[in-house]
Amino acid sequence: MDIEHKNTAADVVVMGAGLAGLAAGLSALENGAGVMLIEKGRKPGGSTVRAAGTFAFAGTDMQRAAGIEDTPALLADELEVVAAGAGDPALRARYVSDQLDTYHWLLERGVVLERVQLSGGQAVPRAHAVATDRMIETLTRCFLSRGGLLSTATAVERLQPARDGAWNAILSDGRFIVAKGVVIASGGFSRSPTLLRTFAPKLLAAVPISGLENTGDGLRIGMSLGAGLADMAWIKGTFGLPVPDYPALPDDSPEGMALLLAIYRGAIVVNREGRRFTDESASYKRISEACLAQPGAVAFQIFDDTVMGTSVPVPVNNDFRGALQRGLVRRADTVEELARSVGLTETALKETINTYNAMAGSGEEDAFGRLSLGGGVGRLIPLERPPFYAIPTAVGVTGTFCGLTVDSSMQVLDVFGSPIKGIFAAGEVVGGFHGENYMSGTGLGKAAIFGRVAGHEAVLAGKRLEAEAIE
Ligand SMILES: Cc1cc2nc3c(=O)[nH]c(=O)nc-3n(C[C@H](O)[C@H](O)[C@H](O)COP(=O)(O)OP(=O)(O)OC[C@H]3O[C@@H](n4cnc5c(N)ncnc54)[C@H](O)[C@@H]3O)c2cc1C
Repeated sequence: MDIEHKNTAADVVVMGAGLAGLAAGLSALENGAGVMLIEKGRKPGGSTVRAAGTFAFAGTDMQRAAGIEDTPALLADELEVVAAGAGDPALRARYVSDQLDTYHWLLERGVVLERVQLSGGQAVPRAHAVATDRMIETLTRCFLSRGGLLSTATAVERLQPARDGAWNAILSDGRFIVAKGVVIASGGFSRSPTLLRTFAPKLLAAVPISGLENTGDGLRIGMSLGAGLADMAWIKGTFGLPVPDYPALPDDSPEGMALLLAIYRGAIVVNREGRRFTDESASYKRISEACLAQPGAVAFQIFDDTVMGTSVPVPVNNDFRGALQRGLVRRADTVEELARSVGLTETALKETINTYNAMAGSGEEDAFGRLSLGGGVGRLIPLERPPFYAIPTAVGVTGTFCGLTVDSSMQVLDVFGSPIKGIFAAGEVVGGFHGENYMSGTGLGKAAIFGRVAGHEAVLAGKRLEAEAIE
């Protein structure tokens, strides 16, 4: 993957080749810049290749073809509701204004979106499913074929001011690159116990499942330049991490271990006592907080064969059949047998399911406020058709979804709100977009949309520098 090159200067340097970095790099190339993309891992991908793979887009032709009514205005309203009064309205507005264009941009570059479905935090189905490994391969090929330079297994370690408003990117292999614009796209910090302890100590009890290099390098570099921070108070785990060897709990998640979310297809969630404890239609971020408060910080998604019948291969978090084959789902002919297989009290689980089934048939709100499968959509399904299934489930940390303050052109702002000229950021390292909660599909959405903006703006910043030099 490495390309031999001796360049020590580039118009734009991009730090990190996940989705945000690839979108930024491609966008900078397409706007006429020479681009060097520096990736710390052995290959591009980061957290992006581990993602279940849904984009939150609204008003697409795929939605129309599926008879789903959705508009950018509805997306804007829902993003505001999900943010719950936090987050920066200007960043949400930028997401909404650029999302349809980015949807087409991805398709035009060969990214395949396979279907649209409902997911967490969405009132209408707008999760556009993608196979993330293929998407990264496609975008990497595009980047290289258009003349972009990629260095893998190389980290950006520091950014230092150079002459005439440019920046020096100091690399782990001893090189440095002088660039007129820099895009920080290095992902989050869920693999850094030090940063987690500082910003979200509760999540030290959860399992990190993000890209292995998500150690907060970009956050630290931004902080070293005086960048402000946003949304740090709202970091949450994600409910849905299967526990294959339960009762043994994992302390890490191997690549390829996707989340499983049978809850939005009709499963209920019970704790080790066999009791429900949450509204399963809520965002999996909210459910994660409830799960961390349960005995052993573990829970069980329980469902029947009707729910199993909704299994699809993509996105992988709905591939319940595949998960069954891989030993992540337990199956039994009766509820009692299922309870025994995961160590739950038979009578408690049976009672819980009976109570739920009575409520699901009545159309009335239950004790936990559940009225729908997810986000207000989908009728509840009584769990009565054998065989029955259980997924022992823990809380994972997929990402940190907070970080450097930026304006709507992805220009990094310092702690006083002033621009740090020439430095841009995109993707998970950016703070201020999500606010208090997270709408499913906006992690990838934000990476692609803001990555494109950051790449283009870094080129424009370089042109401004050149113009100033001529004057
Ligand atoms: C299991 C899981 C499921 C998810 N599911 C979804 C989903 O379905 N929908 C959704 O919207 N979001 C989802 N997310 C979140 C989403 O994947 C991320 O928000 C998104 O991929 C972030 O993209 P990024 O490019 O900012 O970061 P990444 O993809 O993590 O890329 C950052 C890159 O920077 C590199 N890097 C780090 N430090 C340095 C350095 N010093 N120098 C150079 N390179 C560096 C890393 O190696 C990495 O390749 C999921 C995440 C996980 C883990």
